[in-house]
Amino acid sequence: MAENVKMVEAPAGFAGEGFFATSLDKVVGLARSKSLWPLPFATSCCGIEFMATAASGYDLARFGCERLSFSPRQADMLMVMGTISKKMAPVLRQVYEQMAEPRWVLSVGACACSGGIFDTYSVLQGIDKIIPVDVYVPGCPPRPEQIIDAILKLQELVKTEKMSRRESPEYKALLASYGINVY
Ligand code: SF4
Repeated sequence: MAENVKMVEAPAGFAGEGFFATSLDKVVGLARSKSLWPLPFATSCCGIEFMATAASGYDLARFGCERLSFSPRQADMLMVMGTISKKMAPVLRQVYEQMAEPRWVLSVGACACSGGIFDTYSVLQGIDKIIPVDVYVPGCPPRPEQIIDAILKLQELVKTEKMSRRESPEYKALLASYGINVY
């Protein structure tokens, strides 16, 4: 039913009879934020929470990100869920590097954020040791509501990000601090 369709709020701008003007940054940010394509990098139990989040009960489609991608080349939101062993770390890093800009990262659950309960020689103590993270989701495991909350927070970040950020010296310095090549 058309009357049930909720429209997004228009970005700040100038409206008059028959026209609306705003900046390109705001329009692109709005479009990007409502059409994030997730790449679920799920290695253990937190991945099951994500499956619940994506299924009909919680319905990720409400946020425009139901289109999961298992190819880094067609995704812009990397969701890391689960324990990342040091053997797995280079694979995660390669997946991140294969994603095109702009790309964002959610670290879902205690294991991805800090190694969780696995303070051992074989587990990476947080994915931010190898790639930059935009939003952290605590919990072991986090509930689907927390994952959705993190996606909403990321949407806010995406909406307000300037298109020029990825070309900025600060962003290049951030990637360089991880030893990631800037193309
Ligand atoms: S944070 Fe807890 S639930 Fe999530 S992968 Fe680690 S042990 Fe499993």
